[in-house]
Amino acid sequence: MTAILTACSAEKATTPKIDDFKYSVDKFADIEILRYRVPDFENLSLKQKELVYYLNQAALEGRDILYDQNNKYNLCIRRTLEAIYLNYPEDKNSPDFQRMTTYLKRVWMGNGIHHHYSEDKFVPEFSEKFFMDAVRSIDPATLPLLPGERPNDLINKLLPIIFDPTIYPKRTNQADGVDLIQTSGNNFYSGVTQKEMEDFYAKMKNPKDSTPVSFGLNSKLVKDKGNLIEETYKVGGLYSAAIVKIVGWLEKAAAVAENEKQKEVINTLIEFYRTGDLKTYDKYSIKWVEDLASDVDFVNGFTETYGDPLGMKGSWESIVDFKNTEATKRTEIISSNAQWFEDHSPIDPKFKKEKVKGVSAKVITVTMLAGDCYPATPIGINLPNSNWIRHEYGSKSVTIENITEAYDQASLGNGFTEEFMWSDVERERAKKFASMTNNLHTDLHECLGHGSGKLLPGVDPDALKAYGSTIEEARADLFGLYYMGDPKIVELGLLPDKEAYKAEYYSYIMNGLMTQLTRIEPGKNIEEAHMRNRQLIAAWVYEKGKANNVIEMKKRDGKTYVIVNDYVKLRQLFGQLLSEIQKIKSTGDMEGAKKLVESYGVKVDQTLLTEVLERYKKLNLAPYRGFVNPVYKLVKNSKGEITDVSISYDENYVNQNLRYSKEYSSLPTFN
Ligand code: ZN
Repeated sequence: MTAILTACSAEKATTPKIDDFKYSVDKFADIEILRYRVPDFENLSLKQKELVYYLNQAALEGRDILYDQNNKYNLCIRRTLEAIYLNYPEDKNSPDFQRMTTYLKRVWMGNGIHHHYSEDKFVPEFSEKFFMDAVRSIDPATLPLLPGERPNDLINKLLPIIFDPTIYPKRTNQADGVDLIQTSGNNFYSGVTQKEMEDFYAKMKNPKDSTPVSFGLNSKLVKDKGNLIEETYKVGGLYSAAIVKIVGWLEKAAAVAENEKQKEVINTLIEFYRTGDLKTYDKYSIKWVEDLASDVDFVNGFTETYGDPLGMKGSWESIVDFKNTEATKRTEIISSNAQWFEDHSPIDPKFKKEKVKGVSAKVITVTMLAGDCYPATPIGINLPNSNWIRHEYGSKSVTIENITEAYDQASLGNGFTEEFMWSDVERERAKKFASMTNNLHTDLHECLGHGSGKLLPGVDPDALKAYGSTIEEARADLFGLYYMGDPKIVELGLLPDKEAYKAEYYSYIMNGLMTQLTRIEPGKNIEEAHMRNRQLIAAWVYEKGKANNVIEMKKRDGKTYVIVNDYVKLRQLFGQLLSEIQKIKSTGDMEGAKKLVESYGVKVDQTLLTEVLERYKKLNLAPYRGFVNPVYKLVKNSKGEITDVSISYDENYVNQNLRYSKEYSSLPTFN
């Protein structure tokens, strides 16, 4: 039984170097599982590390809540399959056992029996007979049996849920014209019709209330003897056992908070978990959004409402993070030099802003992903969701750089660059610089690009109509591209090397001319605005640079490649196009916008598309990715005092999920 725990010595925390780090850990069905690094964790103070540790623990304790919210049989199915996985007495290499293992991995990925993205129920590839035999073959004490229940009862209960495709086919149904509650597989409502639910909440809402709470966010709506009641998620209410544990860790976290304000944030969240009072939740959200001084930060609670077809019930999620000081410095440098960039931009002076203000974004490093952020996670967060709080108190918008790093680095090792890049020169440069240049390009795009330039007086901001968003994205992208190659960038310390920008130039052109086509179906053209913008830019500079051989499309062994021959001229072309696009935007030149987008951004060379799709298919890449978390441990001296928190990265996907199910699983099988 101890085989599921990786031995992990209490070594000193160190962040492995990018080069030595193996990002990809597992692959099954349509999923690849990655690891992520936590750079600079070792540089936090001991108290901050402790705080992170307790918040991490609070994050992990909520895992079962989400399983139960997603479907009421999820915990029972997960526990049954895990029992089989651990205790199956026969051949674990048999095809049926392997297929069941894949199914279990998918259940962990989806936090239940539905796909995390499509929300369709998984189709098991192992047989019903295998499932029945396996359940009967193991010690009943290891199965999640209810009092008086026998293995055969469990089998009868679960067979249709796992194998019948007509039962709970979809987790969240958004289809028009049916009862969205009764046709959704999730567990936010019980015995309630959509009409009853809508009437129930309509009665609660007061149109004159300018500060309404998020009705229904933290409860299950249940019909009991003809009456509708909310079973609130709180200490002493629904999911109490897990919430009690969460609160216990939050109390420890509050005791080592970085400052009074943060302590209040945590204590208000504790009060909310104790009372279930949504007014208290709003108080907490306001304190949370106002806490900008702390380095360590977290999300913990019933947060996003995408899981409810009617957008009211909050799925439980948590992340823990700390400020990425280096990267945040980067966005602050960019933002504080906004006027210099505006003044030196290669556009007509009459379209420039006399006074420009950059936006600086906070960049964070996550230490733990949990609940609805695990294993699949967003790469940025913008909270809280309450509209009036956003309006009156603002919101926190962050990007998670250690996750984007993992995505970028994993992509470098998966055969993609080997297949599509021209030579080792481009591949080496990408390995060294792609992650940082990609982040910098995003920063320049977001912090400066969209905010630069101005419309001439009287020009309607919507003058470019359907072409508006493609032109606007192209403008922001070009602003970033143009400046990435500027010596000023190295001078400001934003890139370490004057060659680094070439990594972004090459990948941008390769993507725009060729590899983004992997997302287009045969026979189709490009419709999405960002994709149009990228092809527009790449195709335009390709054509305009032809006379000077700036970019080439070359064939080798029947395969097409992109080669950039002259990066300096390429930068000038980016500047020229920026100037043209700014003119279109500033003057509201609809015809100019249309001509540019239609000539360069839309049409797809179908022969090239077929070639790219074939090459891509052979790489056998997983369309979706999830993560495993690092493992944190308290390090204590002989007197039992905490002296450090260690971090290790060697736990694999299976062991991690089995360990979570063992150590952080306090809820009953049915709630
Ligand atoms: Zn944009």
